[in-house]
Amino acid sequence: MFTNDDILAALAKVPGPDGRTPLPQSGAISGISIREGKVFLSIAVTPEQAPHCQPMRQAAETAVKAISGVKGAVVVLTSERAPDSAPQQAAPKGGNGQGAHGAPHGATHGAGVEGIKKIVAVASGKGGVGKSTTSANLAIGLARLGMKVGLLDADLFGPSQPRLFGISGRPDMEEGGALKPIEKFGVKVMSIGFLVPDDAAIVWRGPMVMSALTQLLRDVAWGELDVLVVDMPPGTGDTQLTMAQNVGLAGAVIVSTPQDLALIDARRGIAMFNQVHVPIYGLFENMSYFLCPHCGERTDIFAHGGARAEAEKMGVPFLGEAPLDASVRETSDAGLPVVAKDPDAPQAKPYLVLAEKVRDAMNQAPAKKAPRIAVE
Ligand code: ADP
Repeated sequence: MFTNDDILAALAKVPGPDGRTPLPQSGAISGISIREGKVFLSIAVTPEQAPHCQPMRQAAETAVKAISGVKGAVVVLTSERAPDSAPQQAAPKGGNGQGAHGAPHGATHGAGVEGIKKIVAVASGKGGVGKSTTSANLAIGLARLGMKVGLLDADLFGPSQPRLFGISGRPDMEEGGALKPIEKFGVKVMSIGFLVPDDAAIVWRGPMVMSALTQLLRDVAWGELDVLVVDMPPGTGDTQLTMAQNVGLAGAVIVSTPQDLALIDARRGIAMFNQVHVPIYGLFENMSYFLCPHCGERTDIFAHGGARAEAEKMGVPFLGEAPLDASVRETSDAGLPVVAKDPDAPQAKPYLVLAEKVRDAMNQAPAKKAPRIAVE
């Protein structure tokens, strides 16, 4: 079996980001992982180098694949903007503090992906509001409506979809090196969590990983899809803005809880998509009210209806409300989202209605002009 040394020896033939120094000596290799004969390699480049580094990335991939015993190789470019450099484009203020990370200029393309009809983002202004839970249940709901569905877990900082879908395996690779998504509950899922071990902080030590995301989107054998749901990283920093701009989104669903503070973040999320002219399909309120597991009684713990009122105020559709319910959390933690486990349960209904609304929004002609919303 081959080792790290074999990989470094093969890469000695590939010049690094400066075009001269061989990759192993260039100091740019930021992570190598080998799993079941497949190699995952990350190369750190500066935002300035990134646009010129695609040939180097490809050469590295070819060199690694040529090693005897290697079943497949994925090479990604990672890039971290210097903390003091100005953002490429003004992002809405606030967010989750990821704003210091920038995108490698020119490392992405705005166009859609061949074979995928529509790409829909599920986003939130902050973490912990149930964005991933909603993405999973929405994707399964869309599949139940008869659509061909993919789900891209773009939350590099905390990928949740492997847990939500109960997938612990590794994706296979096709002949040409494209990763095969893992199919479950009628959804083709791809997550960075399938590729990088949990302790691989080494690869993602706070970097902006736009090129990795681009590869997760484009170097995956999605096949023909009616819709690809993208579980976005939480927040409204540069990472999210660049993604929203570059992924070729047909529309976005914003998830929020009813609390005031969460709604401020949701407003930022909406402003972010407006800024890059992505139509907002609407606002979905998660953990909207409490459903007692014993008596079924409903309690409005927070000022219920906050998201509906907010949606009206901002002129975006309201997509529904899901209760704060122990079974939603339990099914998620068990790798069996509620829409897959028990689609007839009342807890599944809001997510199924959301899927119908998203399908209808996708089928409508795109709005000519997104409403402009100013955030103080
Ligand atoms: P995010 O993606 O916004 O960070 P998650 O989907 O990971 O949020 O959800 C955060 C936590 O809240 C998880 O433990 C999840 O199981 C739980 N959760 C999400 N939605 C609900 C809900 N409607 N009722 C109860 N728990 C929920």
